[in-house]
Amino acid sequence: MKPKAFRYHRPADKADALRMLAEEDEDARPLAGGQSLVPLMNLRFAAPSALIDLNACADLATITVADGVLEIGAMVRQREAELSPVVIEACPLVAEALALNGHPATRHRGTVGGTIAHADPVAELSGVAVALDAEIVIERQGGRRTVPAADFFLDALTTVVEPGEMVTAVRFPVLAPGTVTAFVETGMRGHGLAVAGIAAALRIAGGRIDWVRLAAIGVSPVPVRLAALEEALTGRALGEVESAIAGVADPLGDADLLDNLEGSSAYRRELVPTLVARAVRVAVDKMGVAA
Ligand SMILES: Cc1cc2nc3c(=O)[nH]c(=O)nc-3n(C[C@H](O)[C@H](O)[C@H](O)COP(=O)(O)OP(=O)(O)OC[C@H]3O[C@@H](n4cnc5c(N)ncnc54)[C@H](O)[C@@H]3O)c2cc1C
Repeated sequence: MKPKAFRYHRPADKADALRMLAEEDEDARPLAGGQSLVPLMNLRFAAPSALIDLNACADLATITVADGVLEIGAMVRQREAELSPVVIEACPLVAEALALNGHPATRHRGTVGGTIAHADPVAELSGVAVALDAEIVIERQGGRRTVPAADFFLDALTTVVEPGEMVTAVRFPVLAPGTVTAFVETGMRGHGLAVAGIAAALRIAGGRIDWVRLAAIGVSPVPVRLAALEEALTGRALGEVESAIAGVADPLGDADLLDNLEGSSAYRRELVPTLVARAVRVAVDKMGVAA
């Protein structure tokens, strides 16, 4: 199928893009890597009145580290961030999550801003953003706001970004020395979309977990921060990880669980503690410490 007719604009930089978004009607959409938007348009599930093609905006494709923050521009390709020594040094969980996002071919086109703005419930990077309290930078012509990841995702494919606005960057904290990370997921096919995935970052001191951040993707329309598991694991010796996880009666709390062909909500509920235990093991293994 072919998409409905739309107006096409190709701004040269961010300011140009924000101006075009302001001048267009409320059904205009930014075009980033096109890995989700173009198929959706071809299937006519999406019919934007106009596309603001961000692909020539080099000022949206920068990676910087300053004041403890890794800032990745919206148009940085997922593959570039995945392989970037700066990203791997500052916040390796970003690179680990992106390595599971689609395939090398989709990651060469797909962007960091695109995956965050698209807000697919299975998007790995959204889980990292929620686990690490990342901030999403949203701009419109003449205005800028920064939204904590926990408040950014409203529902599947729905965020707080309003007409006339776009995501311009995602700000992740630089992880303290000694932090170990893992992103683990499971799906129906080895390299397919995840049924559930866990973003994990932790630090060990004196053989005990003294800081841990966890979030789940794929289980709910939006990423779920696993606060009860974080609390249960904090202060625990590595040998107590499995029993600490098992001791949390309902790690997903009142999250609205997905129930679909890929898996029932009951299956997802069972997967989460298993994947968290696996993520902690994978992360701890990177320190050469036996869990
Ligand atoms: C075969 C295949 C497998 C995939 N597997 C996975 C997977 O395992 N995990 C996963 O997370 N994703 C997966 N994807 C999705 C994909 O890789 C991208 O992450 C996703 O499409 C969004 O990135 P994009 O840059 O292509 O955005 P686009 O497709 O260009 O845009 C997606 C949506 O976001 C909006 N948008 C884009 N950029 C901005 C911005 N800066 N500000 C505001 N709105 C914006 C667009 O208007 C559109 O509504 C897969 C895609 C394919 C084709």
